[in-house]
Amino acid sequence: MTETIEAPAALRQINHWIGGRAAAGVSGRKGPVFNPATGRQTGEVDFATPEEVDAAVQAAKVAFATWRGVSLAKRAEIFFRVRELVHERREEAARILTSEHGKVLSDALGEVTRGLEVIEFCCGLPTLLKSEYSEQASTGIDVYSIRQPLGVVAGITPFNFPAMVPMWMFVLKPSEKDPSASIWTAELLKEAGLPDGVFNVVNGDKVAVDSVLEHPDVAAVSFVGSTPIARYVYEKATAQGKRCQALGGAKNHMIVLPDADIDMAADAAVSAAYGSAGERCMAVSMLVAVGSVADPLIDAIKQRIPNVKVGDGMNPANEMGPLITREHRDKVASYLEDGKVVVDGRESCPDEGFFLGPSLIDDLKPGMRAYDDEIFGPVLGVTRVDTYDDAVRLVNESPYGNGTAIFTRDGGAARQFQFEAQAGMVGVNVPIPVPVAYYSFGGWKGSLFGDRHIYGPEGIDFYTRGKVVTSRWPDPATSKVDLGFPQTR
Ligand code: NAD
Repeated sequence: MTETIEAPAALRQINHWIGGRAAAGVSGRKGPVFNPATGRQTGEVDFATPEEVDAAVQAAKVAFATWRGVSLAKRAEIFFRVRELVHERREEAARILTSEHGKVLSDALGEVTRGLEVIEFCCGLPTLLKSEYSEQASTGIDVYSIRQPLGVVAGITPFNFPAMVPMWMFVLKPSEKDPSASIWTAELLKEAGLPDGVFNVVNGDKVAVDSVLEHPDVAAVSFVGSTPIARYVYEKATAQGKRCQALGGAKNHMIVLPDADIDMAADAAVSAAYGSAGERCMAVSMLVAVGSVADPLIDAIKQRIPNVKVGDGMNPANEMGPLITREHRDKVASYLEDGKVVVDGRESCPDEGFFLGPSLIDDLKPGMRAYDDEIFGPVLGVTRVDTYDDAVRLVNESPYGNGTAIFTRDGGAARQFQFEAQAGMVGVNVPIPVPVAYYSFGGWKGSLFGDRHIYGPEGIDFYTRGKVVTSRWPDPATSKVDLGFPQTR
């Protein structure tokens, strides 16, 4: 496992994007960007100072004043153009993702496509912002509601979906590990006709995040990342009076009942555990095998693992790429000490880059590190239980509640599971139940701080606030002095 830190002559410089143009950082602080498949540094990204964050917020504030007055028709037209451009250039976007994140090209394309669905949802803005109207709520009085934008809102995003998650967001602080996709998005939005300043990118680390959280002109913050940072961001943002949705980590359990189709469950477990090298907040990381299903299920998964092609994501033949950094790869590998290791991914992966092969651990139980922690890598744990009730208890006692799934042919059991599972996204014979763009995405418990999920209808709610207008047109016949509390009858 090698990591080459010596800098090649031409390291790509990744700057900020403020007021519709690239802005070179002035702090002198930078972070390295690697190609995880080779372990070589390919670029360096500027880290913003509080002053640079302020410049981005001020650019957004100026743009907001005119952007909020742009007609819905014009805004929808721009979104349609963005949709067309992202669609046309999805392969270019996928290559950027693969070169910095490591995920294989087909997976990167899938990410861009899911981001595209959110943009398509936004094309329906005129319908989404329609409100209610009550004529004659009281004599001569009509009441209606409108939704207005909050103001400058910020997004802070993780490394694992460098294109899709930023497509949910305005003043954006992307992950410093794979920042190029955000700059690519900014350039594309400009080309699509988005006015300068509406979308800004500040790269950086905790300094930039804290500046966003403390900035008096930022009205709301959307965060996606690990649970400890999500909690920190939520507490700090709300203490400053901001609206905040902070999506955290996950440990998603997939329950397999004895009546499940074993091949289907094994295919699903392998796809959902090892896709994107397990670096998905909706990855299946724990299999809960109920009763007699455990042995045949583990056998079926074991048979499939050697067929997963691991290697550089730029090669279309590969199905699973490397992890994001050498440190993260080593941390993930350190979990292969707990339980009964059935397949050890350290034995079957390329030497170069930050790779770890698909790994399988049987006999994990609560209290073991590999059961309790979010591993965020290609390690699938199995826990064996006797009954459906034991399985649901594990799901509900988990401190996380992002996604969960049940595999069964029993409709009654599936319905019961949907009723009682304490998680925000539930799959029935679907291992990664990421909602389509016209529903909202988000977990429960330690997977979400805040009360609104992201994108979809709840995303619209989050970024806007309601106003109710009570209106009467002058009619001398109904005008009189009345000091009583207004009544509607
Ligand atoms: P992370 O929490 O380390 O980083 C997320 C963001 O927070 C980055 O922009 C980073 O620069 C910033 N950050 C990191 N440390 C900080 C600190 N001390 N103070 C302020 N800001 C800080 O997460 P990551 O490793 O980039 O991404 C992986 C995590 O994200 C996993 O836990 C995964 O489950 C989670 N995730 C969750 C969802 C979801 O929808 N719930 C989606 C994707 C990823």
